[in-house]
Amino acid sequence: MKPAAFDYVAPRTVPEAVDALGNGGRKAQVLAGGQSLLLEMHLERIRPDLVVDINRIPELDDMQIIDNTLQVGALIRHHVFESTQAVPGPLGSLLSLAVVNIAHPPIRSRGTMVGSFGWGHPASEWCAIAMALDADIQLQGPQSARTVAARDYFHGPLKTARRPGELITSVRYPLLSEHTGVGFIEHRRTHFCFAQVAVAAILTVHDGVISEARIGLVNCADRPLRAHAAEQALTGVEIGPPMDGYQLPKHHPFTRSGRIASEQDAAPLAEPYADLEYRRHAIAVVAARTLCQAANDHRSRIGEAKGGCQ
Ligand SMILES: Cc1cc2nc3c(=O)[nH]c(=O)nc-3n(C[C@H](O)[C@H](O)[C@H](O)COP(=O)(O)OP(=O)(O)OC[C@H]3O[C@@H](n4cnc5c(N)ncnc54)[C@H](O)[C@@H]3O)c2cc1C
Repeated sequence: MKPAAFDYVAPRTVPEAVDALGNGGRKAQVLAGGQSLLLEMHLERIRPDLVVDINRIPELDDMQIIDNTLQVGALIRHHVFESTQAVPGPLGSLLSLAVVNIAHPPIRSRGTMVGSFGWGHPASEWCAIAMALDADIQLQGPQSARTVAARDYFHGPLKTARRPGELITSVRYPLLSEHTGVGFIEHRRTHFCFAQVAVAAILTVHDGVISEARIGLVNCADRPLRAHAAEQALTGVEIGPPMDGYQLPKHHPFTRSGRIASEQDAAPLAEPYADLEYRRHAIAVVAARTLCQAANDHRSRIGEAKGGCQ
């Protein structure tokens, strides 16, 4: 199918883009990587009468670390995070573990991280990580700029706190300390499908004891989620010896936390290839394995810091 006719502008600055977006109450859409928008326009599920292409705005093509925070501008493409060197420390490892699950290389070379926040899909890896890490989203509107915490940003499937006429300029994530271990595991039907379930786990560990757990759930509800109940069940727990995530005992704290994530935090919806029972089981299993991966990651970081393996 061909998209319906639309007008096109390619502003050179953020104020020009915001001006175009707010212009005369038109049904405007931002074109970033185009990997969701163009598909939807071809299927005529979205029919904008104005497309505002932000690809010629140099200030949006910027990623920096400011005050222990990673700020990712609206034109930074998914593929940048494939290198663990792109972002320092455990945050870089987490982003690189997650990014390879997003579609395939051509999509990752054009699609943008910030575009995922414009789209607001419940199966977005970046959005669940933002929930787990208390990231925030920076928006520029016609009158003023504002910052919205990830926990207040997602309102439902493809529904966000972004107001018509606002441009997302960047997303900011806190950097993670070296006491942190990270994990990200995704389960999906075929390699290029969206996740049926994915989990991001971030464990802060001091002297072998978990002082803070953060868990983000991908496609486990109508929006990206943070698994608060499952996190609480891990505070003060010893991470214990290295383990194989595929052989966790039934009563292990990670198995228990995975079950809590599935039963108390998640609110999965049935899908054609996954009924509710299957989805809840998958959430519990993937969450437990991801926690195990994060604990093992912490051990190897400590081992490296001490100059050996643990
Ligand atoms: C086959 C396929 C598989 C995919 N698999 C995955 C997957 O597994 N995980 C995943 O997360 N994504 C997946 N995607 C989507 C892909 O990651 C997109 O790149 C992403 O959702 C949107 O980024 P974009 O830069 O392409 O945005 P665009 O397509 O350009 O825009 C998407 C929407 O966001 C809005 N928008 C974009 N940028 C801004 C901004 N700066 N300010 C305000 N609004 C903005 C646009 O108006 C539009 O409504 C897949 C896509 C395809 C086609």
